[in-house]
Amino acid sequence: MSAPLLSNADIADRLMGLAQLLSAEKENPYKIKAYRRAAKSIRSLSESLEELVRADADLTQYAGIGKGIAAAIRELVESGSLRKAETLRAQMSPEVVAINAYPRLDPARVLRIYKKLGIGMVEELKEKLEAGEIAAKLGARMDAHVRQALTESQEMLLYDAEPVARSLEDFLLAQRFALRVEAAGDYRRRVEVISDLRFLVETEDFPALAEKLERFGGRTERLSDGSFRLSSGILLHVQAADARNWGRELIRTTGSAAHLKKLGRLKNLSEEAEVYRALGLSFIPPELREGLDEIELARENALPVLVTLADIRGELHAHSTSSDGANSIEQMARAARKKGYEYLGITDHSQSLKIARGLPEEELWKQIRHIDKLNAASADIRILKSAEVDILADGSLDYSDALLKELDYTVCSIHSRFGLGKAEQTERILRAMDNRYFTILGHATGRLLLKRPGYEIDIDRVIEQARANGCFFEINSSPDRLDLPWMQAKLAAQAGVKIGVSTDAHSTREYDLIRYGIDQARRAGLGKDAVLNTRSWAELSRLTRR
Ligand SMILES: [Zn+2]
Ligand SMILES: [Zn+2]
Repeated sequence: MSAPLLSNADIADRLMGLAQLLSAEKENPYKIKAYRRAAKSIRSLSESLEELVRADADLTQYAGIGKGIAAAIRELVESGSLRKAETLRAQMSPEVVAINAYPRLDPARVLRIYKKLGIGMVEELKEKLEAGEIAAKLGARMDAHVRQALTESQEMLLYDAEPVARSLEDFLLAQRFALRVEAAGDYRRRVEVISDLRFLVETEDFPALAEKLERFGGRTERLSDGSFRLSSGILLHVQAADARNWGRELIRTTGSAAHLKKLGRLKNLSEEAEVYRALGLSFIPPELREGLDEIELARENALPVLVTLADIRGELHAHSTSSDGANSIEQMARAARKKGYEYLGITDHSQSLKIARGLPEEELWKQIRHIDKLNAASADIRILKSAEVDILADGSLDYSDALLKELDYTVCSIHSRFGLGKAEQTERILRAMDNRYFTILGHATGRLLLKRPGYEIDIDRVIEQARANGCFFEINSSPDRLDLPWMQAKLAAQAGVKIGVSTDAHSTREYDLIRYGIDQARRAGLGKDAVLNTRSWAELSRLTRR
């Protein structure tokens, strides 16, 4: 069979292009989202959509592809174009049509930039981007959006890399192209943003396997022997090993470079643990292989026993429909119980955060009484009375002490005035921590991975203040936050400040994101004791009382 004309990546691009036109047309946002979601899921699909269409397969069996989108894919494969997109393009201004060549650009945002900077062409947009004018005049988030949409080379969240990695693994193992496959590299070390995937494979015929990979997702560009550019934009490196040298090669492909450099020469052995043992070291978990202190600790057999998912006994940061969550307190509690949690802290937003429907004081009073009733009616799970309290610009908290006093603990976060200078931002947090009702600092740096850097703070001073005042941090498990970042979580733990691993769940489904927070806690070297919510509420409440 000849190679397909359209790769899955081509199809995904066209769907993204249609989504972009629909968004310029201010169409139903759910519809636009559906096209974007489909495009994303298509990029991790191993089978060729074109071949599936030609074989008359039912495309709706794949995640994210509903009837309408399946019809669009069929139309694309059969006619090479989408009528709907053509019609829309014909009605649009030339500016928007030109933007359509970059389907990841948000037309509304680009038109805003055009207006603000007095330009009208993508070329000018690129110039302004490079000159730093977008960042200066429209902010870091806008800058990041344009940069990502215009540049070829891509990075992706660990969270988004997972389905791609799993799909590749299945593909390689299918029909025994490989006898054994293991994802290595940054992915295995659980680095939060991924620019390439690395696989170690055991195979009898590497050239045949590499050739097969060129058909992954319809068509995948081969850059060299074992290197490919995946349709999601990230790079794939596949390397062969056999049973005898598997351990050594797995350590090598897992990295990091700094870790390998410190290790020195590796013996040719079949198991990783044997290779480390031959160096006089205990086994080093991949999450710790960053070339910091892990080799010294492994030599003294003093590596921390890292926290695991099974150690977590409750959730400390979750929203309900009272603010911007999707599920009621009752639903959130039931789902938490089902996960085996002993407690759930409801942390809806506070009054100043109007865009997230923050609760006015009287509403939080009502919620407190409601939770008391729920707890009295059922002992299945303890619902903790809490709030995600905004730290206001002057460092005061967004509720009165009389109300804060009624809560079991608080999560205090910054959601405004990101642009304050480092000294002011640090003072703001230090002052907030002086309030005796401050318990946990929420998403401490405010970073949104691949979207915006965090605000600037002097983390050493914040850690010192937390230690002195008996405050704590969280590792927020949202895949685009993972905040505290692992290096700073490591510093906090070294200073003796304990850390909650929270999900910031806005729906019952998001509880499962906790494993991404656990990954980062492990990278930070946190053991069970360093993590707040590995404790029962009885123990935890003794810790959090100030
Ligand atoms: Zn928040
Ligand atoms: Zn939150």
